[in-house]
Amino acid sequence: MTRVSIAQVSKEYPARGRSGGTVTAVDEVSIEVASGEIHAIIGYSGAGKSTLLRLINGLERVTSGRILVGDQDISAMRERELRRERTGIGMIFQHFNLLRSRTVSQNVAYPLVVAGAPKAERARRVVELLSFVGLADKASAYPEQLSGGQKQRVGIARALATNPGVLLADEATSALDPETSQEVLALLRRVNAEFGITIILITHEMEVVRGIAHRVTVMDGGRAVEQGDVFDVFARP
Ligand code: ADP
Ligand code: ADP
Repeated sequence: MTRVSIAQVSKEYPARGRSGGTVTAVDEVSIEVASGEIHAIIGYSGAGKSTLLRLINGLERVTSGRILVGDQDISAMRERELRRERTGIGMIFQHFNLLRSRTVSQNVAYPLVVAGAPKAERARRVVELLSFVGLADKASAYPEQLSGGQKQRVGIARALATNPGVLLADEATSALDPETSQEVLALLRRVNAEFGITIILITHEMEVVRGIAHRVTVMDGGRAVEQGDVFDVFARP
């Protein structure tokens, strides 16, 4: 159970070329995500969604503003602390980011290896996670032997391995056909409902927002231009 508080966050990158200017990828964005909420961030390409996600998991540092994950101030942390804190944040990706040379079990165990978990605990946890995502029979398979939906279920199992309070999803269903997308969204709903995990997902698909989110932030040109309950933002007559 973890809340995420994003307060007046901006991120500037140096502009390409030699002009010395900057690009404001995220511009004074504030979002309060309650513990146990599913929050969607929607917007067109270039709106600043993935930059915001990288700021939340500490892969990028804010230019200004503050990000709290639970009571931890991500924006003020040093690299060492961040690595430890990141075990509290799970992440899933559009293209799954599985290791091709490793089995399903090894992929799911990866964050536990990084975290230094004992072998017996890793084995127990992997069995539990694969059973939760319905892939117990694929433990020894390699990613290339799986369908897209199965790969994303492995991605979800891996993201849950360290028992994170927050799950970040980066266009998690964009590479999947509509039916498989629905299955993955249903699994994410179970992750949220059964474990109380807070989910922040970025997408450019309205269907994803309608299908799963409690609240939504609309981003455009780096700014949060609209925010509220999904029904209020999208279901106006
Ligand atoms: P979205 O995820 O909504 O497509 P991004 O966060 O990827 O948007 O990008 C927002 C803006 O920031 C874009 O104009 C993009 O070109 C710029 N941007 C993103 N990452 C970098 C970077 N590492 N260096 C320079 N500009 C970047
Ligand atoms: P950094 O290189 O910035 O320290 P990490 O290696 O901590 O980033 O990656 C963040 C999270 O992404 C980890 O907790 C891990 O679960 C996951 N991850 C990163 N790379 C891989 C990978 N190649 N295979 C599986 N999981 C990965």
